[in-house]
Amino acid sequence: MTSETIVIVGGGLAGATAAKTLRAEGFAGPVVVLAKEAHPPYLRPPLSKEYLLGKAGEEALPVVPAQWYGENDVELRLGAPVAGIDPGDRTVRLAGGGRLEYASLLLATGSAPRSLALRGSGLDGVGTFRTVEDSRRLRGILAGGGRNVVMIGSGWIGMELAAAARGYGNTVTLLGLEEVPLGAAIGRELGGFFRSLHEARGVRFRLPAAAAEITGQSGRVTGVVTDAGEVLPADLVVIAVGVAPEVSLAADAGIGLQNGILTDASLRTDAPGIYAAGDVANALHPFTGEHHRSEHWSNALNGGKVAARAMLGQDAVLDTVPYFYTDQYDVSMEYSGFPTLISGPPVIRGSLEGREFIAFWRRGGRVVAGMSVNWPRADKPQKAIKALIGARTAVSPDVLADASTPLAQLLPDA
Ligand SMILES: Cc1cc2nc3c(=O)[nH]c(=O)nc-3n(C[C@H](O)[C@H](O)[C@H](O)COP(=O)(O)OP(=O)(O)OC[C@H]3O[C@@H](n4cnc5c(N)ncnc54)[C@H](O)[C@@H]3O)c2cc1C
Repeated sequence: MTSETIVIVGGGLAGATAAKTLRAEGFAGPVVVLAKEAHPPYLRPPLSKEYLLGKAGEEALPVVPAQWYGENDVELRLGAPVAGIDPGDRTVRLAGGGRLEYASLLLATGSAPRSLALRGSGLDGVGTFRTVEDSRRLRGILAGGGRNVVMIGSGWIGMELAAAARGYGNTVTLLGLEEVPLGAAIGRELGGFFRSLHEARGVRFRLPAAAAEITGQSGRVTGVVTDAGEVLPADLVVIAVGVAPEVSLAADAGIGLQNGILTDASLRTDAPGIYAAGDVANALHPFTGEHHRSEHWSNALNGGKVAARAMLGQDAVLDTVPYFYTDQYDVSMEYSGFPTLISGPPVIRGSLEGREFIAFWRRGGRVVAGMSVNWPRADKPQKAIKALIGARTAVSPDVLADASTPLAQLLPDA
């Protein structure tokens, strides 16, 4: 091997966190981050929340301050997409020409919004949502209020964008294929909670409903026709129907894929010296013994750290309990756990109507996931949920539901 360079493909949260961890762990060799986007790595969660709402500015976005890369001798190449990988001679091919040798390579290429092959999806005013440009553009349209917005997709992004659009006083109709929004993620009861929250703020739902066609005039969107034949007037349509992992580089290089790039628990792919982290990685999780691909912030953060340490030869595994959060109107939700392990409906502590509760999901009596909504932070609900999951001991539903039993007392060694 002639190079000791660590190359990171993808300037998102996973890639930037890996670069930061390499330096924090004392790696003094060359580190190159190859990023397709024109901006230094930034956080996406604010894009559909406080940044879109104008409650946070540019300072909320960078993963690390822009000067960090230079100060830490990390070569950040922006607007530099990678066109291919040659695992045989350990090089990457840059789309702009040239090759770069690597000793270790991290694929942190994230995911890209799915599109819909619908008539009219190319009209002005119709788009997907993932980047800072998307957020700025949407804010420019929504901020004046009074627009007809149709959201296609009833997942987290569609719901957050609906909340922001209502926050600016726009009319919002949301359609989705599920019977309740977020049903696939959190089930009927909790999906129903989010539906009521939005309906109380004036969002109209069409569920289950598919978009059959997007109509337009002079190249601009005018409406969405549902599969039931209803015509929904629209000045703006956002297609928020999920994302697909960006696996094309790995696929072309013959790296093992299965719902993303398949890795072991240390985020190694089946190609020597090549690792994957963040949205794109489908990593073996030691807790379940199964592969999990997560499209959430904490997975990119923790995965970036683990991949960096593994590339340095350390004994690092991604064994954290998956976690994510959402903010919609005055509701803050946090979720930890393994959705694939859930069997049966949740046990609720607190009150859905009062918008302050914890939902515990179990399997065989053990807690495998938990979601806290507006629960007092002083009780550290997420810490308790993660500890309960890790303890793998059965807890009775009565005790879980009984708010007079402090959360800390639910833990086995309490
Ligand atoms: C609007 C929005 C809101 C979100 N809100 C939340 C939230 O509230 N809570 C939560 O837990 N998660 C949230 N997420 C998810 C979270 O942001 C993602 O899981 C996280 O960004 C994944 O980080 P990543 O580094 O794996 O990928 P990405 O952030 O997608 O970064 C990958 C980067 O790689 C680049 N790239 C791709 N191919 C190449 C190539 N060939 N060459 C060079 N570069 C390439 C891409 O352009 C991109 O910049 C949200 C996501 C979005 C879009």
